[in-house]
Amino acid sequence: MSDVRVAEVISETSDAVSLVLDAELSYEPGQFLTFRLPNGLERCYSLSSSPYTGEKPTVTVKRMPGGACSSWICSSVVAGTVLEARDPAGVFTPSSLDRDLVLFAGGSGITPVMSIIKSVLAAGSGRMVLFYANRDPSSVIFAAELRRLAAEHPARLQVTHWLECLQGIPSRAQLEAWASSFDAREAFVCGPGPFMDAVVSVLPSARVERFDVFQEEITETGDSSTVDVSLDGVRKRLAWPSHKRLLDVLLDSGLDAPYSCRQGQCSACACRIVRGEVRLLHNEVLDDDDLAEGYALACQALPVTDEVEVTYED
Ligand SMILES: Cc1cc2nc3c(=O)[nH]c(=O)nc-3n(C[C@H](O)[C@H](O)[C@H](O)COP(=O)(O)OP(=O)(O)OC[C@H]3O[C@@H](n4cnc5c(N)ncnc54)[C@H](O)[C@@H]3O)c2cc1C
Repeated sequence: MSDVRVAEVISETSDAVSLVLDAELSYEPGQFLTFRLPNGLERCYSLSSSPYTGEKPTVTVKRMPGGACSSWICSSVVAGTVLEARDPAGVFTPSSLDRDLVLFAGGSGITPVMSIIKSVLAAGSGRMVLFYANRDPSSVIFAAELRRLAAEHPARLQVTHWLECLQGIPSRAQLEAWASSFDAREAFVCGPGPFMDAVVSVLPSARVERFDVFQEEITETGDSSTVDVSLDGVRKRLAWPSHKRLLDVLLDSGLDAPYSCRQGQCSACACRIVRGEVRLLHNEVLDDDDLAEGYALACQALPVTDEVEVTYED
């Protein structure tokens, strides 16, 4: 975790703000930062800025009614607030800025998509079409900026706004009809679960960024296991509280453990359990053979046995 100072707070809509950060960050379009808020909870927020435009790193946060962290951010963060953040992570990034893309965003799901759009326009040659669904006109984040970018790059960016108050929730058939001319393109979708599910049913290869999962708070029981870890030729013995993910235990102890998405969707944090047992909160990448060989995802692993031994060595 490192401290980042908020340089400016921009009000985007009545329930969304952008936090412009005074920080030098190296990141890819579509990646996110994980913040530890003063209430002790950690939340991920995607960067809406582009690393290619010279703008300061910026995250955009939408208030969730009753949400423990987004409400605090939207009402209490001001210029000068210092937040704790982890390094940028995530794999919701285009393979090339020169490829044509088809993009789907719903509500605050526009955040990583905005970073991709600005990056492709600034540093690549790809053409993009965006399907952007919102409740009503007042909830459209980045409306003016998208209008400006589409006007400046008419041959490279086309935006379709879909307003639920006028058109209802987009059906699978409507999404299919809209996407049919672009189905050979690399596709990205970020938004509410049912919206993403509908898009994926039409474009099964679409890359998905889920905002609403895998952040469950695990009840703190006070129990703790012990983990022996071998990484980069070093062996260390650490206490592993039963509610804490292995990756967080390693990073908090100063070990340079590898990771990327932190959501069980890539295998950058894969390690091997040599002794003991762990359980994975979520796993989209390891198959039964991998699990049988002892592989685990550190970002999703909680201890089951009192003693666990983990290795990152071959
Ligand atoms: C990779 C990633 C990137 C993300 N990027 C962004 C982004 O760019 N912008 C953005 O705004 N968000 C983003 N999110 C979502 C964000 O991390 C938070 O999940 C979101 O802000 C809600 O957090 P919260 O603490 O405010 O709400 P929480 O307290 O976690 O609550 C979430 C919702 O559940 C409801 N709830 C809470 N407890 C209960 C309960 N006991 N019973 C019933 N309902 C309950 C709340 O009312 C609220 O509506 C991202 C998430 C991920 C994983």
